[in-house]
Amino acid sequence: MVPSPQKSEPVSTPHPKAKAQPPAAPLPTGISVDAPAGGDDLFAADPLRQCATLDALAPLIEACRKCQLGHSRQHSVPGEGDPGAGLVVVGEAPGATEDETGRPFVGRAGQLLVDILKAIGLAREQVFICNVLKCRPPGNRDPEPLEVGACSPYLHRQLELLGPRVILAMGRPAAHALLGSNASLNELRGKVHRYRGIPLIVTYHPAALLRNPHWKRPTWDDVRIARRIYDGERV
Ligand code: URA
Repeated sequence: MVPSPQKSEPVSTPHPKAKAQPPAAPLPTGISVDAPAGGDDLFAADPLRQCATLDALAPLIEACRKCQLGHSRQHSVPGEGDPGAGLVVVGEAPGATEDETGRPFVGRAGQLLVDILKAIGLAREQVFICNVLKCRPPGNRDPEPLEVGACSPYLHRQLELLGPRVILAMGRPAAHALLGSNASLNELRGKVHRYRGIPLIVTYHPAALLRNPHWKRPTWDDVRIARRIYDGERV
């Protein structure tokens, strides 16, 4: 992954004969989180800060043993995609297939994520996909607070290096890790939050949609909001 100096451009431009759409409803605003005053690591020589690229960060993630998951996993899963992406997807944690391959969202939930992205005109390769946890929790159990605390600095640094136009947080663990809120997914959906100045949209996790297809419709509403911001709508 070599960072590109340019952000990738929105892919769709309206057809010249396309019917004018009614103006979209204004987007309600949600939580706004700023970076901690002293940075994410209180130690001055934070090695993450010295990583100027995502590629430089990946070996640190691979070598990390700050929590127990580093000992049980097969591969770390730092994330993948376009380092100049306008949209970054943040999920929860690698599952079994991700642990085997070292790639995020490559199992069934990943296939659904690809379909969701396609519905808003984006290919997997055009976005950046990562997780809160970079190592698989055994048996796909929920991430523990200590694990989230240990792993979050990697995510914060990734987002700092990526600097996307919009973040799509899929599922409660991603929303909670980025917004520092314990609110329910329902309370967090349908609003434009701000993560260190970057608009952030919360929606259902694809694995939840596999269990409950009724949530596909609200997810569609959410990702269309993300697409509007990606396209440059000011929020
Ligand atoms: N679920 C996630 O949250 N992330 C993955 O990479 C795969 C499944």
